Amino acid sequence: MVHPRVLQALGQPLLGHLDPVFLALMNEIQALLRATFHTENEFTIALSGTGSAGMEAVIANLIEPGDRAIVGVNGVFGSRLATMIERSGGIPIRIEAPWGATIPIEALEQELARSAPVKAVVLVHAETSTGARQPLEDVGALCRAHDALFIVDAVTSLGGIPVEVDTWGIDACYSGTQKCLSCPPGLAPLTVSPRGMGVIRKRQVPCHSWYLDLSLIADYWNDHSRAYHHTAPISMLYGLREALRLVHEEGLPPRIARHQVNSDALMAGLQTLGLSPLPSPGHRLPMLNCVTLPDGIDEAMVRTHLLQQYGIELGGGLGPLRGRVWRIGLMGESCRQAHVLTLLNALEEIFAGQGRPAQPGRAVKAAEEVYTHSLGSARRGA
Ligand SMILES: *Cc1c(COP(=O)(O)O)cnc(C)c1O
Repeated sequence: MVHPRVLQALGQPLLGHLDPVFLALMNEIQALLRATFHTENEFTIALSGTGSAGMEAVIANLIEPGDRAIVGVNGVFGSRLATMIERSGGIPIRIEAPWGATIPIEALEQELARSAPVKAVVLVHAETSTGARQPLEDVGALCRAHDALFIVDAVTSLGGIPVEVDTWGIDACYSGTQKCLSCPPGLAPLTVSPRGMGVIRKRQVPCHSWYLDLSLIADYWNDHSRAYHHTAPISMLYGLREALRLVHEEGLPPRIARHQVNSDALMAGLQTLGLSPLPSPGHRLPMLNCVTLPDGIDEAMVRTHLLQQYGIELGGGLGPLRGRVWRIGLMGESCRQAHVLTLLNALEEIFAGQGRPAQPGRAVKAAEEVYTHSLGSARRGA
């Protein structure tokens, strides 16, 4: 869901991409993004294109032909990153983990020592295909000790769980607008550390992508040069500014707490229906709840029923998880108590219709207990 204020912002009259009023809007977006990423990086922008454009820009600019990059592969987006590293002429060193698991820091440490020199370590913070939450706190220091850059995909995490770019020593971090920031798809928030920008400016050969060349894009976002590169998607930037204002009006800590309490309540209800979280405790994403299914239900039929009768869309499993899990999003504006309770109620009804023994109201009650216990400690969304 997108807040009505964001929809209204998208319809504002247009400005030229070098209009002083528009340039002030760009500055405001940069300040709001720095506060969202928790960074002081000067190069903090909204790149034209969806989250994948952010991914492609970071890889295409930081990886030169022949560079080795360690990449965690435990789902769809880790393998997409490995493909992009390859297409940039780099050598991806894949550290694989089962889908639903995370990449152990010991494995990163061993590989950094074994494969030196390594240009970058690349990790997906929130693996949307599995619901796994990758710990990042200690990776930055490890990368610095091995003179490697630290690259993080925060497409699904930003605005829903903490993303601490400076504290965690991240050199390049990108996100997308349509996950926990609750804006339509179309921009990729992106930040690069001074160390990362230094690497980009000292490339041996120019970035093969002209459109995503961050050294050129930096000259447009830089308040002192404002050199035309490509026409900014002005309406989308209006929308993003409003979405970011909403994030900071709520406040990041309360927003993060809201994501957690709604996820806890959803999980408590789902467990009574025989659905269990795929990732292990401590490694579960609140905005992407990935659960394994009980035996004997026709999962595709239940999802079709939910969509057609209740207007609720759940994600199915991808790759090796096809038919085995559901992925239930609770992101940004959509992360609210009413949605959790409506889904649990609908599932109780559908499961009962499929002949599964159910105690009516049990799942909803389990969720309500979580809300009662957290009362006052977190806003839950209307
Ligand atoms: C959605 C997503 C992307 C890709 O973003 P698009 O906006 O679909 O291009 C990349 N990484 C992760 C972890 C995602 O969830």
